[in-house]
Amino acid sequence: MGRKTLPPLILLLILSLIPGLMAGPRVEPVWASSEAEWSRQPADPPQDTFHVVGRGETLFSIAQRYGSTVDALAHANGLHDPTRIYVGQRLRVPGARAEMVPEITTSYVVQPTDSLAGIAKRHATSWEHLVSLNSLISPRALYAGQVIQVPTVDGVGGHRGGLHIIGDGELLFQVALRYDVAPWVLMDVNGRVNPALSYSGQPILIPGGGTGGLPVPFNAVDLRPLPADQGESLVFAVRTEEPVTLTGQLFERTIRFTKEHGVYYGLAGVHVFTEPGLYEAVLTATDAQGRVTEITVDVVVEADPFGYERIKTSPSLLDPALVAAERERLNALRPRFTEERMWLGPFEPPCGGTISSYFGTRRAYNEGPYTSYHGGVDLRGATGTPIYAPAAGKVVLADELVVRGNALVLDHGWGVLTGYWHLSTVEVDVGQRVEQGDLVARIGNTGLSTGSHLHWEMWIGGVNVNPMQWLDPFYPWPEGEGGADEGDMS
Ligand SMILES: [Zn+2]
Repeated sequence: MGRKTLPPLILLLILSLIPGLMAGPRVEPVWASSEAEWSRQPADPPQDTFHVVGRGETLFSIAQRYGSTVDALAHANGLHDPTRIYVGQRLRVPGARAEMVPEITTSYVVQPTDSLAGIAKRHATSWEHLVSLNSLISPRALYAGQVIQVPTVDGVGGHRGGLHIIGDGELLFQVALRYDVAPWVLMDVNGRVNPALSYSGQPILIPGGGTGGLPVPFNAVDLRPLPADQGESLVFAVRTEEPVTLTGQLFERTIRFTKEHGVYYGLAGVHVFTEPGLYEAVLTATDAQGRVTEITVDVVVEADPFGYERIKTSPSLLDPALVAAERERLNALRPRFTEERMWLGPFEPPCGGTISSYFGTRRAYNEGPYTSYHGGVDLRGATGTPIYAPAAGKVVLADELVVRGNALVLDHGWGVLTGYWHLSTVEVDVGQRVEQGDLVARIGNTGLSTGSHLHWEMWIGGVNVNPMQWLDPFYPWPEGEGGADEGDMS
């Protein structure tokens, strides 16, 4: 930070000390007296640090980070209610000692599901700080088993910033009891929240017991694969202490969860055009008593090296209204969610052909910009080549379309759907249940197609993702039969 010239307020202060220059009643700035150093070293006033509030931060976590207190921060920023700070707010941190105290660090072994932001949060620091502390090339240069240095967090400090929303008729001391935290600690952490005035819906920060501790009722959260690539599928697996209603939010989309063998599974698709960077998934658990607990999970999205294609087109002879109607019809299918998981393990390729065009290839038409992408993979194959169901599912569309030609869509459950375009024939009917390996269609050249091939695509929660990821066992699904907890129907 560069040295600045005297701020106008200091000049004002100096001027005001010269009698006669200032007319009228003298207003003493209240903060002047507390800055005693000024009189001793007028040429070198202490530089205040400014902190921009990030998501999930509280005055407590900020104070802890700078070796300050909630009271000092509230006072320095004129905050009447220390629980009311907002993301992006600029806070003055008086006399931050961050640079003066040599940092005490501890070794930390990176776990398979760790992200730098997650580790940073658990150690009350920022991921940028960890990058500089460990001279990492990038926040994504992190691998399981790697040993990095993290700031030592003492005593109560291992908090994760778990948030508890007070339920109907719930009292603060009950919250304290639930998280095994002394009521006065809760009051202190939350800026002297008045236990008599706490209200339903009020967010209360819970200081966690140890590093990585999740707030009740969360027991464990697993997210794979991390980091995520653009155009990939993500799987959340969440364990809780008691049955809850679980929902998630990521990339401004809702993640739906299904419980199987005591684990809540939720799938999310990372859109091809998602900017690489750090995102937060918000998981919200509501227990039987209506108590709501929210946690955030860090999701690092990496750029995938997609290819580029420029496509020459002649003016379309297709009726735009028909093209739009076709898109609407498919969009109506996209959000479909079936509670039953019909696939049992990795998918199988629908046909034997090699790939002629990869998923996610950026596409530009004629001289235009690269604003489109290839929403599936193209597999080579002669007309009539059989296409087999890559996994069990249910036929939800089998029809002749204008652009996509003869088309088939299978619903595999849990928001996973696959589409097959340009077919010569469709061998199944809507509503029919198919098993992995069943003949479902044949390769063709129907619709807007320039040669016989299968265009195979996959939707997760309505987002186009790379189906090839599903040919590998990228997530350990529960052993045995698929389906919900209700048990076998045989
Ligand atoms: Zn294609």
